[in-house]
Amino acid sequence: MSAKETYDLVVIGCGAAGLSAAVSHAATARAAGRTARIAVLERATREGRGGATRWTSSWLRITGDRRLDPAFIPKMEKASNGMADLDYCRVLDRETKATLDFLEANGVELIFFQQPFANRNTGGGLGMPAKGGVGIVDGLAGVVEKTPGAEILYETEAVRLSLSDDGRVNGVIVRGRDGLLRTLAAPAVVIACGGFEGNKEMLTQYLGARACDLPVIAPTVKNNRGDGIRMAMEIGADTAGQFDMFHGEPVDVRSSKPDAVIYAYPFGIVVNAAARRFFDEGKDSFDSTFEELGFEIWKNQDQKAFFIGDQTTLGIANVEQIILSDQSPVQADTIAGLATQLGLDPAALEATVSAYNAAVGPGEFNPKIHDGKAAASLNPPKSNWAFPLTAPPYIAYPLTCAITFTFGGIRTDTQGRVVTPSGTPIPGLYGAGEVTGLYYHEYPAGTSVLRSATFGRLAGAHAAAMAG
Ligand SMILES: Cc1cc2nc3c(=O)[nH]c(=O)nc-3n(C[C@H](O)[C@H](O)[C@H](O)COP(=O)(O)OP(=O)(O)OC[C@H]3O[C@@H](n4cnc5c(N)ncnc54)[C@H](O)[C@@H]3O)c2cc1C
Repeated sequence: MSAKETYDLVVIGCGAAGLSAAVSHAATARAAGRTARIAVLERATREGRGGATRWTSSWLRITGDRRLDPAFIPKMEKASNGMADLDYCRVLDRETKATLDFLEANGVELIFFQQPFANRNTGGGLGMPAKGGVGIVDGLAGVVEKTPGAEILYETEAVRLSLSDDGRVNGVIVRGRDGLLRTLAAPAVVIACGGFEGNKEMLTQYLGARACDLPVIAPTVKNNRGDGIRMAMEIGADTAGQFDMFHGEPVDVRSSKPDAVIYAYPFGIVVNAAARRFFDEGKDSFDSTFEELGFEIWKNQDQKAFFIGDQTTLGIANVEQIILSDQSPVQADTIAGLATQLGLDPAALEATVSAYNAAVGPGEFNPKIHDGKAAASLNPPKSNWAFPLTAPPYIAYPLTCAITFTFGGIRTDTQGRVVTPSGTPIPGLYGAGEVTGLYYHEYPAGTSVLRSATFGRLAGAHAAAMAG
């Protein structure tokens, strides 16, 4: 093996988690007077680097004083029926501010604001990188590229972990552009290569029938093929998170734009291919219900739904901020005309809209609060933001569910060390980001990038401290 192929740390994955691990490892080693040799592996080309992180807007579930939303931990406990690792969540809470500081110190500009339609009841303000997730990838990769001893190996896929005779992870076997296998030796490896959202075979294995119908929400998400989960499980790692659940979102089926999500559905109705409502569009603000709507469209509505609105919908101040499609809505002067364009039964859609309009209760429509203006007598009801659809031209967006990430992954301790079912850390092996399982039943939005960067940072620093 050539000297070039021996490292202090090999990181599998070039997203928020992997890059945070590499940057923090280098900094911790530097502080101890050492120059760490680090390889970050990326399956994609340089232009296509960054996995899911590259395409996310990267909303961060934080408060104005740069803390994790205080409702997050109770929400995780409740949503998971106590199954989520609350110690991990507490460390995320404790470390959030340090992670934001770390990102800013390493070339990632953050902005802080209140998204006008997001949930205020949680107390969570919102922040995000000024350039979105690509700002994290380019910022941190830029630091890695300038760090002596560190390099990013593009078009280099991790295939399996290398083990010493006594079970310590001592490197990664990779396949490069030439198709040949080689070993990158290192006393520490951080697995940070995402979930299995890009792997139809694994999706079918864990989600079941019709998983193949789920498009990925953005192109490079397809590179996340569950390799890290497989590699770690092969050597005895435990798992965590719900393997038959995923985070999906309702996207405009006509659009090929990444992340073409239609979040405006609370301000209209959503119907299925039979032109019937099937979901309480006003149950809560979009950031609390978009996953449930996406899942329902996939699981029970044959991957087809239609958001129906009118000119009142389009007249809501800033509503364009929650319609991320690059396609104009389908428009018609009548509901029957709209149905015809959508391929729906005109009489059925007219009946649904008439019943909905007749059920709208008293009160003043206010999109900025949970206004309680409901269509309560319907089944399902619409609990907030119910105004009659009577302002033509009527509009529609045809929807399908696109997969963002999977919930099931490998289990780590609170320092990012991958553990066996007995809780014993596997020497030399770390995991961070989406490859690690956490969520059950529901993903509290705005926490995935935060936990990826946080536990990547902690894992990289821990591995450097162990080397010292
Ligand atoms: C469109 C979209 C919107 C989102 N919105 C938000 C949001 O607003 N807020 C939020 O918190 N989260 C959001 N998410 C989720 C969030 O972006 C991800 O959960 C997070 O970025 C995951 O980071 P990661 O580093 O774990 O994985 P990734 O960023 O996916 O990185 C994984 C890396 O591993 C590489 N890789 C995979 N397998 C191998 C292999 N065998 N060998 C070498 N390399 C490999 C991939 O190419 C990639 O570089 C969104 C995701 C998407 C796609």
